[in-house]
Formats: sequence, structure tokens, C-alpha cells
Amino acid sequence: MSKQSVDTQRHRVVVIGSGFGGLFGTKALKRADVDVTLIAKTTHHLFQPLLYQVATGILSSGEIAPATRIILRKQKNAKALVGDVTAIDLTAQTVTSHLLGQQTVTPFDSLIVAAGAQQSYFGNDQFARYAPGMKTIDDALELRGRILGSFEQAELATSQEERDRLMTFVVVGAGPTGVELAGQIAELADRTLEGAFRNIDPRDARVILLDAAPAVLPPMGEKLGLKAQRRLEKMGVEIQLNAMVSDVDADGIVVKEKDGTERRIECACKVWSAGVQASALGKQLAEQSDGTEIDRAGRVIVEPDLTVKGHPNVFVVGDLMSVPGVPGMAQGAIQGATYAAKQIKHELGGADPAARKPFKYFDKGSMATVSRFNAVAQVGKLEFGGVIAWVAWLALHLYYLVGSRNRLITVISWFVTFLGRGRGQMAATEQQVFARLAIEQVEAHRAAEERERHEIAERQATG
Ligand SMILES: Cc1cc2nc3c(=O)[nH]c(=O)nc-3n(C[C@H](O)[C@H](O)[C@H](O)COP(=O)(O)OP(=O)(O)OC[C@H]3O[C@@H](n4cnc5c(N)ncnc54)[C@H](O)[C@@H]3O)c2cc1C
Repeated sequence: MSKQSVDTQRHRVVVIGSGFGGLFGTKALKRADVDVTLIAKTTHHLFQPLLYQVATGILSSGEIAPATRIILRKQKNAKALVGDVTAIDLTAQTVTSHLLGQQTVTPFDSLIVAAGAQQSYFGNDQFARYAPGMKTIDDALELRGRILGSFEQAELATSQEERDRLMTFVVVGAGPTGVELAGQIAELADRTLEGAFRNIDPRDARVILLDAAPAVLPPMGEKLGLKAQRRLEKMGVEIQLNAMVSDVDADGIVVKEKDGTERRIECACKVWSAGVQASALGKQLAEQSDGTEIDRAGRVIVEPDLTVKGHPNVFVVGDLMSVPGVPGMAQGAIQGATYAAKQIKHELGGADPAARKPFKYFDKGSMATVSRFNAVAQVGKLEFGGVIAWVAWLALHLYYLVGSRNRLITVISWFVTFLGRGRGQMAATEQQVFARLAIEQVEAHRAAEERERHEIAERQATG
């Protein structure tokens, strides 16, 4: 495996991504005789399972997104590099990244690609304009701004029709994220905002959770799905199943029923949590590796040792890998990345990559919170819900949260929110609400200028 290294140089490992896969892979190499470069688009690690609590004002972004550079401060063999990876060259063994027009080419001997996935709109990317996803800190802050902004506008509304539209919140996708979000928007309206407005009663807010599938939380089975559904309904959340979104605009969404009929829901605030599309880096890798393919979601169908065919030094882990029986969850990423790091360390000592044992996933179960004091959990064949599941959920999330300060502040915030009514992060700024679309415009403008420069250069070159 170290054939590319020269004697004077340590084995170079490049890790792409600072999510669960990237961070745990890097940490697992702490004591290895290697130099690790972790390249990621963001300056932080992100604990995605708690994004919905940032969106609904319980936690601040810093608590779930600590700076990668600071996490790795004491890991002397690791360095963090911020940049958007645009190219991986498996022949030259390099990774090319960009930060604000500056290009960096990083060579590697071993590569761990943990670039994760983005929201998928199933071919309807135009929906994103009005229904942001829930994948990044920016998404969560934008959603917080949109939720709180809708209540503010409703307070000023001059007609009941307008007020109803502004106080209708639609969450598309009834998976764990959708369930958690719908539950928290309902609790925010019922408990935290109660009595805070003069012209509206936030408890009149309508929260709708809809999905094209016939059940809530399909991966967790019928029993737990029904448990979560009943709890949400008790809280006043409307569940609409077998309902496919066929259009989204600024003022509402159009839903297509199973029988083909369409109906419209007037709503200002909507959020999309219905599907994932793996990073485009997966396609790049597959194109360079004879015999490696990607699945429908763009995930790389990896070999049993999580590598791409013909490149035993290139591992793909986490949400970007497609391995039967391994869900797109934090544990899949952590275990995959730790496995990859273990192979790298093992082979530095002379072990043969051909003799690797295949990756084995250990299923630790799955959980989703529905409301305060209520969650559903599945551990092996055991399925349970209610307060016990909720406490287990809190403990597990605290355990995996990075940094003792973050854990302490999170516990305090949870006490305040779940035992009382307060939420400490109720600020929303204009930037949060409008920055995404403004950045898109700036980027489109920059791309147009780049194209124009390119065309002028070409015309000049051809005389
Ligand atoms: C809202 C939400 C709730 C969730 N809840 C749970 C839960 O309760 N339990 C659970 O187990 N799982 C949950 N998950 C899933 C879990 O978070 C993911 O499975 C896990 O984060 C996957 O880890 P990863 O390292 O593969 O990808 P990610 O954590 O997504 O990290 C990807 C990294 O790659 C970087 N990156 C991407 N493209 C590039 C590029 N071109 N150049 C440079 N860097 C790049 C990103 O910036 C990021 O740092 C949830 C996910 C979401 C979105």
C-alpha cells in the first residue's frame, strides 16, 4: 500500500469530508505513522441529527458544529484544509480543491472519501427555492428564520386567508428528520410562542407532515411508525400519507393523491426532508474505476472492503457508499471510516490488501424523537417508544456530540426547553432567510463572467 511513498516521506492519507465518516476516520489514524490531510467544504464537523433543534431554536449552531481545526488541534499528524473538492484523479493520486478561486492539489497514497449526500428533490430542483432542505447549518438557520418570520408576518396579516397561509407549516418527508421537525415546530408554536403575540395565537398554527409513502418512519417498521404517527396527531400535527408533492411555489404546494387528483395547500413555510442524492464525487470515482458503478441515489457500489475496483487504496465510506444492509446513518459512516483507517494502519506494517477481511456492519439500532418525553427506538428485535426511548435518545446523542463544553451547554438547553418552555436561540436575521438565494445569484453571476472571459480568450486565440 505504501508503494507510492518514498523513504523520506510518510504515508499520505487524504480524507474528504468532516462529517461522521471524515472525522472518525481521521481520529482513528491518530497513532498511525502517517500524515493525514482532511479536506472539507466547511470549517466545521456537523452533528446532523440535531440540526432540527437548531432550526427550532433549542440549540445554537456552535453546539452541533465545532470547528474541525480545533477538534484536531492535538492530533499532530493531521491537518485540516478547507476547500470544495472538484476533482479526484485516481491515476495521478491527487485531490483538487478550491477555496474562493484558489486551487490546491493534494497528493495521496491512501484516500478516504466521506463526502456524504445532499437533499434530493427527485429531479425537481426548482422546488429548493421555496422548500429548503435540512442538511447544513445554513439550511437550519434559514428554516429558523422562515418559521419565526412566518409568525411575524402572520401578526401583521390583514386577512384571515393570509394569516392561515402564513401559519401553515408543511414538512415534506415523514422519515426521522420530518417527524422530529414537525414535532418541534408544533411544540414551538404551542409552548414557546404561546402568549407572545397580540394579534395571533401561535397555537392556531397548522403543522402538516406529508409523504408519498403510505406510512410514517417506514424504515422503523409499522408498529413504531404508527406509534410516532399517533403521538404527532395527539399534538395536532396533520399527517397526510400517499401524498406526492407535484409543485412548490412561494405561496404553497400542490399535492397529487394516489388516484391522480391534485389539491393545493396554501402555506408560506415549507421544508424538504424527503430523499438524498450522494455527492457527485461518487460518479467521478466510478467513472475512473473499471467495473465500479453507482446506484440510483449516486452512491458508490463499493467492494466488500469499501474500496473502488482496482484501487485498494481508495475507500468510500458513509452516505456516499452503497453497501447492502448498511443504512445511511451516523453509525454506518463511523464504522466504515474506522474500518478503512484500520486497513491503512495494518498495511503500513506490511499486511497484504488482498487478505483484508470484508467490512462488517454492527447494527446498533435506530431512534427518532417525536416530542419532548417521547421517542421511538429499535434495537435489534426490540422495539419500544415513550419516555424510556426518549431518555435513551438524549443519552446517545450527548455521547456522540463532539466536545465537553458542547455537551454541557446542550444538557442545559434541553433542561430549559423540555422542562420549561424557553428556547435560547430565537434570533433570526435577514441574512439567514435570504443569503442562500443571494449567494446563488452571486455564483451565477460569477459563472457568467467566467464563461464570458473564457469566450473572449478563445476568440482572441483563434484570431
Ligand atoms: C437532518 C438529519 C438528521 C439525521 N438524523 C440522524 C439520526 O438521528 N441518527 C443517525 O444515525 N443518522 C442521522 N442522520 C444521518 C447521518 O447524519 C449521516 O448518515 C451521516 O452524517 C453520514 O456521514 P458522512 O460522513 O458520510 O457524511 P456527512 O456527515 O454528510 O459529511 C459529509 C462531509 O463532506 C463534505 N463534503 C461534501 N462534498 C464535498 C466536496 N465536494 N468537497 C469537500 N467537502 C465535501 C461536507 O462538507 C461534510 O463535511 C441524519 C441526517 C440528517 C441530514
